[in-house]
Amino acid sequence: MFARQKLYEGKAKIVYATDDPDVFLTHFKNDATAFNAQKRGQIAGKGEINAAISSHLFQLLEANSIPTHFIDRPTAEDMRVKAVKIIPLEVVVRNIAAGSLCQQTGLELGAVLKQPLVEFYYKNDALGDPLLTRDRLLLLELATPEQLDQLQQMALRINELLSAFFQQCGITLVDFKLEFGLDRNQQILLADEISPDTCRLWDQGETDPDRRVMDKDRFRRDLGDVEGAYRRVLERVLNQPVQPLVQEPVQE
Ligand code: 5GP
Repeated sequence: MFARQKLYEGKAKIVYATDDPDVFLTHFKNDATAFNAQKRGQIAGKGEINAAISSHLFQLLEANSIPTHFIDRPTAEDMRVKAVKIIPLEVVVRNIAAGSLCQQTGLELGAVLKQPLVEFYYKNDALGDPLLTRDRLLLLELATPEQLDQLQQMALRINELLSAFFQQCGITLVDFKLEFGLDRNQQILLADEISPDTCRLWDQGETDPDRRVMDKDRFRRDLGDVEGAYRRVLERVLNQPVQPLVQEPVQE
């Protein structure tokens, strides 16, 4: 398997075609950006750490019946994935109020939501990734109503699984962003990455609102020790085995 043509270079990853048209190679970079790339920097070791965390979490989700693009991790900073066409949506799931939810609604940082909130943002840098309504999403034909329902259900199930997993790590999963893609059979697969770049993760062993932060907010807010925090997430994640976690919901 050889990486060939560069298909796409994003802020944190590069996607290459391979000699198999059904397989892409994703290279994780150390580059870090925030606030729609207005803030830029590097986090030492980030590519390797995020590739390792993502690989572990994708395998965990696969073991719990979530279809993902993950195939394997041939080198420290690379993941082989199934070729998909990315749906231009950022699907955000929130358990606790933070970030833009606080800024836009006035909810207090740390307020526990009565039920998880699923939000859809338009993945479009030029427009600044705006929050979409269901009707706007359908107007733009970013997904069909059936696909939208499926994305919502998958996002909620992934939240149950990841929340339970991170709980075992002594980490609270505050919120996170997912991306999905369509394979050649139009099947929806979870794609992109799941890492401290894309999740808010709070250390349950810390009460201080800054010290507890184990994710990219350390970079966004200049809290320091970004690499150390990412490494601590990696250690705890790798300490937990990949296994079926929560019972499948009972079908009526
Ligand atoms: P917020 O809307 O509060 O800024 O972000 C909610 C969650 O989604 C956070 O965990 C944040 O890291 C993640 N998120 C939202 N948009 C992006 C994005 O464009 N890139 C990355 N890496 N994460 C995002």
